[in-house]
Amino acid sequence: AARKKAEAEVAPSSGKPPVTKDSIINLDHGDPMMYEAFWRGGAGERATIVIPGWQTMSYFSDVGSLCWFLEPGLEREVRRLHRLVGNAVADGYHVLVGTGSTQLFQAALYALSPPGPSAPMNVVSPAPYYSSYPAVTDFLKSGLYRWAGDAKMFDGDTYVELVCSPSNPDGGIREAVLKSGDGVAVHDLAYYWPQYTPITSAAAHDIMLFTVSKCTGHAGTRLGWALVKDRAVAQKMSKFIELNTIGVSKDSQLRAAKILKAITDGYDRAAGDDDDDSSGRLFHFARRKMVSRWAKLRAAVAASGIFTLPDELPGHCTFANETVSAYPPFAWLRCGKEGVDDLEGYLRERKIISRGGGKFGADGRVVRISMLDTDEAFAIFVDRLAAMN
Ligand code: PMP
Repeated sequence: AARKKAEAEVAPSSGKPPVTKDSIINLDHGDPMMYEAFWRGGAGERATIVIPGWQTMSYFSDVGSLCWFLEPGLEREVRRLHRLVGNAVADGYHVLVGTGSTQLFQAALYALSPPGPSAPMNVVSPAPYYSSYPAVTDFLKSGLYRWAGDAKMFDGDTYVELVCSPSNPDGGIREAVLKSGDGVAVHDLAYYWPQYTPITSAAAHDIMLFTVSKCTGHAGTRLGWALVKDRAVAQKMSKFIELNTIGVSKDSQLRAAKILKAITDGYDRAAGDDDDDSSGRLFHFARRKMVSRWAKLRAAVAASGIFTLPDELPGHCTFANETVSAYPPFAWLRCGKEGVDDLEGYLRERKIISRGGGKFGADGRVVRISMLDTDEAFAIFVDRLAAMN
């Protein structure tokens, strides 16, 4: 009995509470619970790791390398996954690891800000922009950089432009809008994976940020990576992480490496097999889910009659080798009903928690809604939406 109790004490939490027909449905965050069903299948076993008590104790992973806290096994699997998917060029780039891409985004701001006593560097992104960009940029009131708003309204030469493509919140494909002066771009490619959008070419920007949160669904592992072209910038970003958290959890890195390996192995196996083992192909699983969810959402919007969604964006996907539509991770839902100027509030009264347009630099008649939650939450959400008129 004592042993049972000890085991129970370290059992993982179950995360958010389960939903029922009358629950408040919280689709504010992009919590990627949709992926759980995939990892509960055979792939989950193949992604399991065991870390004995004596392992991963040192601060250091690879003492001689630029990013000394990066586990070589993770770097290998990151490069292997990009080769499989073809969404980014990794050859000739430095790989950095961060506690989520959220930490790497801050590392990039630190690395790109001029040292010395000059005015803070301007950080911009075209509206509607990811709501964390202004929040994370300004929360410590840094003297190095400050949020300067919508890139399309910005007039100046010294800036960092955050380019999120496909875009959180609206799913659009984005390129840097500013091309003048000493500005530099940071490309946040969290959603540039085949389940969300056609992979049209291998991205090769100066700084590219990725995260397992939205690629495999393991948001709780808190693991992101950056591909950085310039050695000096990569060194400064690495320095930021050294000062901020003295590196990144090795346990998380090993787990992420094993997860990425399970994905790439799944495709290697399917390519070699006659009977195609679709249970091991993450991007196929996730795309099927997104196709089905978007069909249900569009049907609910049509049934309601008071909402609109962005149009579908088709393109040729080099990974799928066919023309496919984009299925964004968020619905950017607009309401045309007379008097509904605060759509977030309107939906909250109907027990749906969304994130209002204001936080993205847009108006209050639009909200962002996660498409990645559990099947149960998503089903209740579309049912409620369809009944609104
Ligand atoms: N970039 C974008 C565009 C995101 O939507 C998110 C997560 N919502 C992140 C970065 C942060 O991801 P992570 O969990 O790796 O910190």
